[in-house]
Amino acid sequence: MPESSPEFRAHIEALKLRHFVADELIEPPRDLWLNGVGVLAVADAARHELGFPISITSSYRDLDRNRRAGGVARSRHLLNEALDLRPSRLDDEPASDVTDRLLRLYHLLGRWRREGRIFPLQVAMRWASTLDMNGETLKAGTCWKWTRASDVSQPVGAFQFVGGLGLYPTFVHVDTRGKLATWGGG
Ligand SMILES: [Zn+2]
Repeated sequence: MPESSPEFRAHIEALKLRHFVADELIEPPRDLWLNGVGVLAVADAARHELGFPISITSSYRDLDRNRRAGGVARSRHLLNEALDLRPSRLDDEPASDVTDRLLRLYHLLGRWRREGRIFPLQVAMRWASTLDMNGETLKAGTCWKWTRASDVSQPVGAFQFVGGLGLYPTFVHVDTRGKLATWGGG
């Protein structure tokens, strides 16, 4: 994985995530950084709630990387608002444990989405960035709820998880496109 810039590391550190660090992410172009804040908050909360290790197998993808990964043309990874998450397995654990964790992760995210769960954020409110794809605009779906920027020691924004959720054999895809999309897992 390419080394991230000091500025990107500082941006991720400022989010005060409990589990994920910049080394686990592909650094996107700067105007897409904030698109990833919501999905990272969701993933970090899920990792915390479930209590087992989770690795990020895909984050931001540029067009080349998306093509190599076999991603769809309008993949949310292009906007940096998607993560693929894989529960990790310790060497001595049976594979069935990982399948169980994969389903637990998928169902927890599904429940949070149904409940319209709100996640506190450490960054202030803003509009989501867009991406120009050969003249067609792809818009990130970040849905901000409130802001309290005067006291930076407290969360300064909040995010409602509305997005896509996909169950694959070895990972769960989660994105914050701002509308519902579901595949796999029934
Ligand atoms: Zn994905």
